Amino acid sequence: MSEKISLLNLSPSPAKGLAIDNNLDLTRKKARGATLSKTDLAGNSLSSVINSGKIYTKRASGYFQRLRRSISYLLLTLFFVMPWLEIAGKPAVLFDLAAQKFHILGMTFWPQDAIFLVYLLVLSCILLVAATLIIGRVWCGFSCPQTIWTFLFIWVENKCEGDRNQRIKLDKQRWSHAKVLRKSIKHSLWILLSLATAYSFVGYFYPIKALLIDTYNMQVHYLGVFWLIFFVLGTYINAGWLREQVCLHMCPYARFQAVMYSEDTLVVTYDSQRGEHRGHRKASTDLKATGLGDCVDCSLCVQVCPVDIDIRDGMQYPCIDCGLCIDVCDTVMDKMGYASGLIRFSSANDPGGKRSLFSLPKIHWLIALSLSAILAFGYSLQARDTLSIDVIRDRSGILYRHRDGGIENTYQVKINNKGSELESFRLGIIAEAPFQLRGNHNIYVEIGKVDTLIVRVWIAQQDINQYQSDIRFVVRPANQTSGDEAPIAEQISSFIAPVNKLNK
Ligand code: SF4
Ligand code: SF4
Repeated sequence: MSEKISLLNLSPSPAKGLAIDNNLDLTRKKARGATLSKTDLAGNSLSSVINSGKIYTKRASGYFQRLRRSISYLLLTLFFVMPWLEIAGKPAVLFDLAAQKFHILGMTFWPQDAIFLVYLLVLSCILLVAATLIIGRVWCGFSCPQTIWTFLFIWVENKCEGDRNQRIKLDKQRWSHAKVLRKSIKHSLWILLSLATAYSFVGYFYPIKALLIDTYNMQVHYLGVFWLIFFVLGTYINAGWLREQVCLHMCPYARFQAVMYSEDTLVVTYDSQRGEHRGHRKASTDLKATGLGDCVDCSLCVQVCPVDIDIRDGMQYPCIDCGLCIDVCDTVMDKMGYASGLIRFSSANDPGGKRSLFSLPKIHWLIALSLSAILAFGYSLQARDTLSIDVIRDRSGILYRHRDGGIENTYQVKINNKGSELESFRLGIIAEAPFQLRGNHNIYVEIGKVDTLIVRVWIAQQDINQYQSDIRFVVRPANQTSGDEAPIAEQISSFIAPVNKLNK
């Protein structure tokens, strides 16, 4: 006997809506592998039972699963490999907090470059909003670390304990050697993955080779130890145990993403007009004669759902638009000889999902805005100063000194080589009055380093005509002899001279 049909018929409620609600709840609970009690069948206390259950996600295959796998492989590979890569002898990505500099893909950023972090955050927000407006929670379903690590942990679970039904069976079994062995292997692999994740993550802040050597020698800094433990526990608990609870209760994006939706936003939707009335049948059943829709009520869309919702209930905030229910439902439709797309990405303005996404002017604007933001960010990165100069007039002692019949000020000049191709520089000054630069003018600054010169600026007493004068300190390549070429970095500072001499 068809259990779904019999459950629907068992609903005590005379109200059709409630009967269907109970059926949906029971379907969901059954999809989880829970045993249905009389109370359940009577329609009481269902939600409490449902909300306390563990989710046994069924393995799915299809277009969206392949797409997410490909994206996950790419992102996971980047995440684990990047801390090991070097570009021109420097880490490809290293946020060196102790030295206050960030190496990113051959570029070195300093605290003064924090504006690029702001640009990056603005760019990320624009891209996230544009993506959400166009394809809903595509970030959640395909590229969020929580989703990727959860799927990775579920994959390990599948390998150790089998697919959904075997896992349900295993959990219902009494503890035995075989069960302990399977569970131990699973948790050991989860902990290994958590360790690899923690080391890779901390490796973005602490050179990874040094981190491993320091671990071996038990010399990791206490902050490093703290973050390693934090990320091992965080990964193990979030991806192994909490899973969808993070999306449901902890992630703020899940709460406000709905406000970004428009009538044209594509979201995973069940075509209820086509699917209802749902029910079991044979492939040869005459749908018109029986009044059935295309949904065979197999509950597979619920069984594969990582957040344990029934998409047939309508759009729900926990849905992460992962498309697994689409994949599995298309397989069912295929087997039944029905058209695919009973569950599909569609929008309120285009429930049939027939219209091309790119036919909407709004989408053109969003894509143009996103591309402009990416280009602007790329240009600002490319055009950023690769050398900076910071001039501080020495105020530690007296304002100025009388020396050799003239007045002298002392300056501390810091030159920061953020990635200039050159490493040897010559310091000069440009001013209206005949100032002279005294001290060593030449400096060698390695790429990614800062060095300091102490220089003096002198002027003959008779040439002083004001209390404070502007002096432009300029940096040129050491081999550049002509002063006509534009300097590669410059900063204006002031020269202070005695007022009483001016009044002479
Ligand atoms: S997978 Fe498709 S056919 Fe099966 S219950 Fe879900 S919507 Fe109905
Ligand atoms: S309802 Fe479908 S798209 Fe939404 S989270 Fe569940 S499986 Fe993914």
